[in-house]
Amino acid sequence: MGVLFKNGTVVTASDMTQADVLVEGEIITLIGQNIAPGGHEVVDCTGKYLLPVGIDVHTHLDLAFGGTYSNDDFNTGHRAAGFGGTTTHIDFVIQPKGGSLHDGLNVWREKAKPAQIDYAFHMAVTDLRPDVMDEIPSMVAEGVTSLKLFMAYKNVFQIDDATLFKTMQIAAQHGMIVMVHAENGDVEASLTPALLAAGKTDPKYHAASRPPEIEGEATNRAVVMSGLTGCALYVVHMTCESAVDALRRGRTLGYPVMGETCVQYFFLTVDDHLAQPDFHGAKFVCSPPIRSTHDQGILWQAVKDGTLQVVSTDHCDFWFEGGVGPVKEWAEAHNGGDWHTFEAQDPTYRRPGKELGKGNFAKIPNGLPAIEDRMMAVWHGGVNSGKLSPQRFVELNCTNPAKIFGMYPKKGAIAVGSDADILVWDPNKTHTLSAKTHHMHTDYNLFEGMEVKGVPVQVYLRGSKIVDGDQWHGKNGNGQFVARKPNAPVL
Ligand SMILES: [Zn+2]
Repeated sequence: MGVLFKNGTVVTASDMTQADVLVEGEIITLIGQNIAPGGHEVVDCTGKYLLPVGIDVHTHLDLAFGGTYSNDDFNTGHRAAGFGGTTTHIDFVIQPKGGSLHDGLNVWREKAKPAQIDYAFHMAVTDLRPDVMDEIPSMVAEGVTSLKLFMAYKNVFQIDDATLFKTMQIAAQHGMIVMVHAENGDVEASLTPALLAAGKTDPKYHAASRPPEIEGEATNRAVVMSGLTGCALYVVHMTCESAVDALRRGRTLGYPVMGETCVQYFFLTVDDHLAQPDFHGAKFVCSPPIRSTHDQGILWQAVKDGTLQVVSTDHCDFWFEGGVGPVKEWAEAHNGGDWHTFEAQDPTYRRPGKELGKGNFAKIPNGLPAIEDRMMAVWHGGVNSGKLSPQRFVELNCTNPAKIFGMYPKKGAIAVGSDADILVWDPNKTHTLSAKTHHMHTDYNLFEGMEVKGVPVQVYLRGSKIVDGDQWHGKNGNGQFVARKPNAPVL
């Protein structure tokens, strides 16, 4: 007795085909025409598309940042992701200063205990001592095959070029992939104090402190090192023309370089969003910053022509108005304590959020809520407008993420033997993105009021229905860790 999806259109990275899909247990066991219902539960998918469920390879759940924590954790963030048609994500473990990579892994395993959807980990290396360099290869056996390094955040996470180069040599030897946050942190560290000293403290100056040129320069530097070391490189959250040009040049030269952009960079601009008055611009502060409509055109072209392989979110949400609620004073008296505890005592309490940066853009917690809206917004902006085919949409949001990060074909495919992670998608149904209806644990929505056409109606995780319309059927503890394989293909 299985679940039979009948009369739908299966959309994969390569094809759109009328077919029935049979799921038995957690696996897809048969795809064909006119499969007999037998004793199976039948899901009528007439007029619907069947997609491999979304994979978001760039998230920060429950992340300590800038004196607070990102709001969504492995409970609320999973629910929000599921409602948006995403059932696998890769979160960034942060190596603690002075600690080992395994120390970080243990912390994230603990955070992930309430998991409702499947997840994997990247390792963000923040303190690259010789013993940590020696520890890197041991991550492969833990199913963590990607390393993240920061070329920005001077005196916090930033590594120098020699360290990046050496790490790439080691990663290449073990079939690991290196991801970089590509911005020149030294230049940013010069620009920010000068802006603040000139009284330019509003959120919009955050973009001025991180101009596109420093993203392009750092991207090029990492691309060159990939060419020299042969290490697979994946540039996260690419936003602008100079960065895309640098990546395209590397790809033209045959270097193993890839890149992603995030959904927000297609839609938000400095002028329309970051420059909003009365501190509202803080809602849109992330690094690298949102850019211009010109850059948006460049990004759409880059995901269309294959220069960029993936669309993710960099989901890392904070309250716009945080630090409020009856236990505020008590919480402040215990400043630096555990916000989770305060919230457990009084659910109306909000941990600090974007307001931390009032009067100083450099103190605004960096990050945006997007994990729930990615699939709908990209479908609407990409497929409905004719920029992307449905197949390319699947490739960017579901299949390439699985391939590049060593999860394919278990994830990212509608194929016999793959996990039955199935998204029943109604291409004609509309929905208005809004903080009033979203499931992300924050008080604003990036795309407030945007009406999208094309939405998830049912979501299956390994054969179990976790979303049915507006009903949630996921369960804490049902999400599983996905151990990833090394030597994944370079796309
Ligand atoms: Zn990030």
